[in-house]
Amino acid sequence: MKLTLWTYEGPPHVGAMRIATAMTGVHYVLHAPQGDTYADLLFTMIERRDRRPPVTYTTFQARDLGGDTAELFKTAAREAVARFRPEVLLVGASCTGELIQDDPEGLTRGLDVPVIALDLPAYQRKENWGASETFYHLVRRFAAGKPLPREGRQPCCNILGPTALGFRHRDDVREIEQLLGRLGVAINVVAPMGASPGDLTRLGEADFNVVLYPEIADTAAAWLERQFGQKRVTTVPIGVGATRAFVAEVAALAGLSAADCERNSNLPWYSRSVDATYLTGKKVFIFGDASHAIAAARVAVTELGFALVGLGTYSREYAKDVRQAAASYGIEALITDDYLDVEAQVAATEPDLVLGTQMERHICKRLGIPCAVISAPVHVQDFPARYSPQMGFEGANVLFDTWVHPLMMGLEEHLLAMFREDSEFGEGAAPSHLPVSAAPVPVDVVAEAAPSADAVWLPEAEQALRRIPVFVRGKARRNTEAYARSQGVAAIALQTLYDARAHYAR
Ligand code: SF4
Repeated sequence: MKLTLWTYEGPPHVGAMRIATAMTGVHYVLHAPQGDTYADLLFTMIERRDRRPPVTYTTFQARDLGGDTAELFKTAAREAVARFRPEVLLVGASCTGELIQDDPEGLTRGLDVPVIALDLPAYQRKENWGASETFYHLVRRFAAGKPLPREGRQPCCNILGPTALGFRHRDDVREIEQLLGRLGVAINVVAPMGASPGDLTRLGEADFNVVLYPEIADTAAAWLERQFGQKRVTTVPIGVGATRAFVAEVAALAGLSAADCERNSNLPWYSRSVDATYLTGKKVFIFGDASHAIAAARVAVTELGFALVGLGTYSREYAKDVRQAAASYGIEALITDDYLDVEAQVAATEPDLVLGTQMERHICKRLGIPCAVISAPVHVQDFPARYSPQMGFEGANVLFDTWVHPLMMGLEEHLLAMFREDSEFGEGAAPSHLPVSAAPVPVDVVAEAAPSADAVWLPEAEQALRRIPVFVRGKARRNTEAYARSQGVAAIALQTLYDARAHYAR
């Protein structure tokens, strides 16, 4: 197993925890070493959840390994059932627990509760797969029913895929429920988020399924299609174009007309408005889970006019889809779960903006590039108190704001160009909310690219460079050095910096 400081996905038992935590009436007994209770922090600290996840760990220690760990597991399971009275008990092992080779399924035989044994191979699979398998097993065990006669009732659907610790799942569900309501489609069951095993028994009654997060719900939805003949809506409604396609797909399956349900959609006009012309051609690098990365690429290119310089995913199960999407934009996909590969590509492509995960936020901080988060893995700040969906028409508004703001420096670019010689708006000027006399904030230059060997910076130019905001300074340095090389200038003076700036502004 590769040990790493950062990782895009946790082990598969964390995926199982995401399902158990999202649902009600489910408890998970996990054969795991002392220390694995760290996973609770993901939900309570990062997601700001007000309850611990419904997980009992056996928390065996090194000294227990020579003894009877099986008895430890049996006791933990018995006590969990007595204390939490779940409708279903999930049992499984973490990576280290798996090595002991106790048999959670056999050890829980005879308990007075339905048990689902999760066989999640920790050394081959990861978090999203673990979540998908867990959801699939729950659906297989409980789903029942058949669509009710259509006469005299609204068409209805299930919404599948939202979990605990998902990127904006809570708000996406609310937005999509409203959208479906405006279309005239009733919601039968939302799962796993908020559903109980009892709710899953009604899954078969819906006319069709909406799969919001394919990484989590595709397998279960495919099984439901085979079992109950329920068709699937597969468009992930991120961005205005995809939301329109989603509405059309839903309307076709529901036998409704895609009436005027497009409200609150500012993105198309905002992205065409004069203040947004500076977005056109801005270089963007995208990395995340497959669904969010593909959707973000579509929005970035077709709705905001960005130039895509990188597209990739850590979701190996969906590598083919990402490769196809990247090829359609004329680039090669990056499929990796090594953040150092991603960092190298970001540095090489020199984007103006990165849309990524919490990991890319770290990478971009080091490289001094603006970044907005579009996908898990996430950080506590990706669970804002306000309503902030990614999906639907309101989600498109949120995307516009969160992707565009990191590119703005407080003044629109055409005004900056007009007033660039004015001392108040010069690049060395302090932010406008500070007193006029405020000196430029001293900045840490550790993250900067080193000067190239063939260009010497004269002190006055170096000083001026340091006054440029840190997130564009690396780029200004590289551009100036490239310009100096092209002009055969060996020593970069203040004037060279100005000339380079004028050259690239043209
Ligand atoms: S068992 Fe798995 S999750 Fe727990 S500490 Fe070991 S590698 Fe990490």
